[in-house]
Amino acid sequence: MSQQQFENFTASSLYCEKCRTAMPVRERLLLVLPDKEIFDYLCTGCGSSVGRREITAGEKVMAQAMAGRRPRRATRLR
Ligand SMILES: [Zn+2]
Repeated sequence: MSQQQFENFTASSLYCEKCRTAMPVRERLLLVLPDKEIFDYLCTGCGSSVGRREITAGEKVMAQAMAGRRPRRATRLR
């Protein structure tokens, strides 16, 4: 089942050069673009940036769907 664990790896822990080990990271929204969002990952130990991730609009929709969120839409049929 190690392969499944690898797939579930969503940068909750990354290698930090300063701490010289894999550290839990904090996700910070760095930049919002029309078609994607860029997240910065900060080491919780020393606070340095250890990685970045770009989430495209399609992935964001997927993430929201998996999180159980539904977009609020006032769809009234008359
Ligand atoms: Zn660190």
